[in-house]
Amino acid sequence: MNTIKDMMFIDPHVHMTSRTTDDYDAMRKAGIVAIIEPAFWLGQARTEAGSFKDYYSSLVGWERFRASQFGIRHYCTIGLNSKESNNEPLAEQVMELLPLFASKEGVVGIGEIGYDDQTAAEDKYYRLQLELAKELDLPVQIHTPHRDKKKGTTRSMDVCIEHNLDPTKVIVDHNNEETVEEVLNRGFWAAFTIYPRTKMGNERMAELVKKYGPERIMVNSAADWGISDPLAVPKTAALMLEKGIPLEHIRAVCYSNALAAFGQSGQMKEADWLTPVTIDQSRKFSGSTILRGGQEPKVETRDSNIIE
Ligand SMILES: [Zn+2]
Repeated sequence: MNTIKDMMFIDPHVHMTSRTTDDYDAMRKAGIVAIIEPAFWLGQARTEAGSFKDYYSSLVGWERFRASQFGIRHYCTIGLNSKESNNEPLAEQVMELLPLFASKEGVVGIGEIGYDDQTAAEDKYYRLQLELAKELDLPVQIHTPHRDKKKGTTRSMDVCIEHNLDPTKVIVDHNNEETVEEVLNRGFWAAFTIYPRTKMGNERMAELVKKYGPERIMVNSAADWGISDPLAVPKTAALMLEKGIPLEHIRAVCYSNALAAFGQSGQMKEADWLTPVTIDQSRKFSGSTILRGGQEPKVETRDSNIIE
């Protein structure tokens, strides 16, 4: 990890709500300056619209604050995930909440939306949310299905085109060797999730960047409540460097492409973290603090890591 010590990283897909303060600390130390947390399901289905409302509130509120306490800029995407789209009475109520939250500060897109089992209900709410993204002029972050991936990925893009979305505003996530070519050829952004041990490992990711180059490709951890690694982006960068991939290519796929794609929201810009970041742990959010048992708050100004 020493080889990448002066680099800056963005993890454009990580569910910090499920992670610990140790993770935040390690991420900042590894050079992660900004993260995007897509709204997703929480491992257990919600039964009330109020649960969604509070979850979205925490994504734009408490979690954003918590990240700031470790010197990391937190952004999010807001959406109704595919799995829970299948509870139609609830989905109808959630759809009414979305416009309110999608227009809040720090929201860089509608996401993560798309298909899980590719049901009719999933299709319905996916399309409605594409229309919402268009209306609000926000990027879209697409979760592609883990089963029947190739077909599901093609279909996700077909529907975007059908709804007249500009591919340059759509980030297609969870790609692999079978899907990448079509996604790039059709002008969409291709995001890759680095799963520890399974699916897309970082060795395979390095091979993909060697083969396709860095254009419109980005790497993320998708770390959540399952077995996952919130340091997947910097670790992949270190491996790519070892494999002889040029520094500018690594910078593109682990930092600047995510900024370019989600920066189209107008909510995310480099100046957000390039100006020296002040960590002030004496701050509170609605009376709550991250400190416990008389701990001394850390107050410091860090100079941002500037690459090159
Ligand atoms: Zn996710």
